[in-house]
Amino acid sequence: MNHSTFTTLGLPANILGALDKAGFKTPTAIQAKAIPPQLQRRDILGIAQTGSGKTAAFGLPILAGIAELTGRPNPMTTRALILAPTRELAVQIDEVLHKLGGTRLSTVLVLGGTSRNAQIQKIAKGVDVVIATPGRLVDLLDDKKLRLNETRWLVLDEADRMLDMGFIHPVRKIAAAIGPRRQTALFSATMAKEVAELAAGLLNDPVRVEAQPPATTVGTIEQRVILSGSKQKREELNKLLADPALQRVIIFSRTKHGADRVAKNLAVDGHEAAAIHGNKSQNARQAALKGFASGAVRILVATDIAARGIDVPNITHVINYELPDDAENYVHRIGRTGRNGASGVAITLCDGTERAKLRDVERLIRRTLPVSGEIKEPVATQPKAKVPHRGQGPKPEGGRPNAQRPQRNAGRHFSGAKKAAIAGQRQGGKPQRSRQKQRVTA
Ligand code: AMP
Repeated sequence: MNHSTFTTLGLPANILGALDKAGFKTPTAIQAKAIPPQLQRRDILGIAQTGSGKTAAFGLPILAGIAELTGRPNPMTTRALILAPTRELAVQIDEVLHKLGGTRLSTVLVLGGTSRNAQIQKIAKGVDVVIATPGRLVDLLDDKKLRLNETRWLVLDEADRMLDMGFIHPVRKIAAAIGPRRQTALFSATMAKEVAELAAGLLNDPVRVEAQPPATTVGTIEQRVILSGSKQKREELNKLLADPALQRVIIFSRTKHGADRVAKNLAVDGHEAAAIHGNKSQNARQAALKGFASGAVRILVATDIAARGIDVPNITHVINYELPDDAENYVHRIGRTGRNGASGVAITLCDGTERAKLRDVERLIRRTLPVSGEIKEPVATQPKAKVPHRGQGPKPEGGRPNAQRPQRNAGRHFSGAKKAAIAGQRQGGKPQRSRQKQRVTA
């Protein structure tokens, strides 16, 4: 149980005032665990997901440290650097820092897809915190527009995603440019082998803090699956959306193309929806998010990577129009609802080609999901055919016509498996997973 208060965590008075104003009354579990060691200048290895309050967990000690410094940051330098995998997450971090850091805090967002010159001009004056995606930051370092030699704090947020997105070299290069006297915090939703290796290289005797074990789903989210032919998914979606209880809905598709198609069909079917994915400009993505967050638009269609770190309150329903290639993304997706103790519903539409992916999800969350509906798929009527089922590889049971859900006790079967077994399985599957991830574009 977490009985601490922000005062007992050792935060200074000016920050306590800002927390009060922001409505943060008690620290979340990750904040209670991560803030005290960081105030004592320790490195942190944090296992926590978006929604856990991790931004304030690494942000508050930095704000407290900056408040102790006198004078202004020197030109072309930053006191703290926060790296995030996506632009949306970076923008959210910036918002939280300003909410808690007051008006005197200077920050710059260094993001691809937005004006380089505006970023360079702000950095030229010297800045308290740079929040950046790794690619653009390396550009500015290479062009000598930013020096990191005076940077005292480095944060790697959602490190697992940064690695998934191929940022390992930029991240290492950036860390090397800061030097070893920095204080470093690395946060990740999962502790895959690659993340552990990165952490071992960058952190100095870190304190490991964990808010929630990896790959568990939030207890307050009701989860269910609707079996459906792929051609019937549109109709199923319309049926679901006819229910006014679905007040604020995020729909996930696997690819950019799929997200566009779903959004287009929704418009044709009379539903107002906004879409975000990597092909959209930064402004279009922010506008879509704003419309959704304000309640002006009921539905947001998103891909996994574009949706990383989205923190919109009161999402009542998550609909997986397609299952993710990587089961872990299921956990991230459904975590968009049921935030901060609220209830939420996650509904997954699963067609005949996706059964294996559904089993991967159930194995990961160690639960069998309740299922309704049936698959009327015109394909997969010939289980003996040698042609692989829609490119899904040699998984004949996944393609059996109208098969009852295979391994109904899949969850139970794996429920005895210890975390280590699951972690081992994840690591063992690594080459395939990384290939799959490259296909998931956002
Ligand atoms: P994060 O995991 O950092 O994305 O935070 C998730 C949400 O929780 C954000 O909307 C924060 O503003 C909010 N939040 C973080 N810490 C607290 C807290 N101690 N009390 C109330 N809300 C919080």
